[in-house]
Amino acid sequence: MDLDMKVWKRMFQELIREVKPWHTWQLTLDKSLLPNILKPGWAQYQQWTFAWFQCSLCSRNWASAQVQVLFHMHWSEGESRGQVKMRVFAQRCQKCAQPSFEVPEFTEENISRILNNLVLQILKKCYREGIKFVKSPMIKDIALKGPHNSDNCEACLQGFCVQNDMGLAVQSPIALPFPTISSPTLGITAEMPPTSGSTREEAVKKKKIKK
Ligand SMILES: [Zn+2]
Ligand SMILES: [Zn+2]
Repeated sequence: MDLDMKVWKRMFQELIREVKPWHTWQLTLDKSLLPNILKPGWAQYQQWTFAWFQCSLCSRNWASAQVQVLFHMHWSEGESRGQVKMRVFAQRCQKCAQPSFEVPEFTEENISRILNNLVLQILKKCYREGIKFVKSPMIKDIALKGPHNSDNCEACLQGFCVQNDMGLAVQSPIALPFPTISSPTLGITAEMPPTSGSTREEAVKKKKIKK
C-alpha cells in the first residue's frame, strides 16, 4: 500500500503559499529516491520521525521513532516551478514469518512539523534566503523501549538508517564519544567526504609528513 499523500500535499501547499504565494511547487512520492544521491541543482532534507505501523497479515501495531522521511527539492528559476520528491522508508512485522513492508502512519502533528522543516529548508537551500533554520522537534506518542529492529527496517537493510545515533540516545549518558584519534590502519584520507573542512585534511597531511 502506498502512503496517502492527500494530507501531505494539502499541508505542503498551505505552508509554501504562506512564504512563496506566487510560486508553483509540487510534492510527489518517489519510491526510488536515495539519500545523498542528488541530481545537479537538487537539495536534500532528511527527517527521522515517530510513526505507527500496522502489519497487513496479523494486524499487529507497533511504533518506531526511527522512521526516515527523505525529500529532494529543486527550484527552477526559468520555469518558475519547484519540485519536491519524497520517500518514506517502510518497516515490517517482527512476529510474522514472511511479512511485507508496511508504510507508516504519521500523526497530523508530525506531518505538519516535518513539512514546516521542509519549507524552511526550501527557503534556505533553494532560494538561498539567510534564514536561521530552527528544526521543529518530532513528537513521540509513546515512550519506546528496546532496540531498533534493524532486520525489519527498510532503511537499515539498505544502509540508510540512523540506528547508531538513536542508540546513543537511549543508552546511559556516560556512553563514550567517538574516538577523536584516528586509527593509523584506517584509510582516512580516502574516506573523507569532500565537504569536510580542510583543517582536518591538513591535520592528517601534517601528521603523515611527521611520520
Ligand atoms: Zn504480523
Ligand atoms: Zn532502521
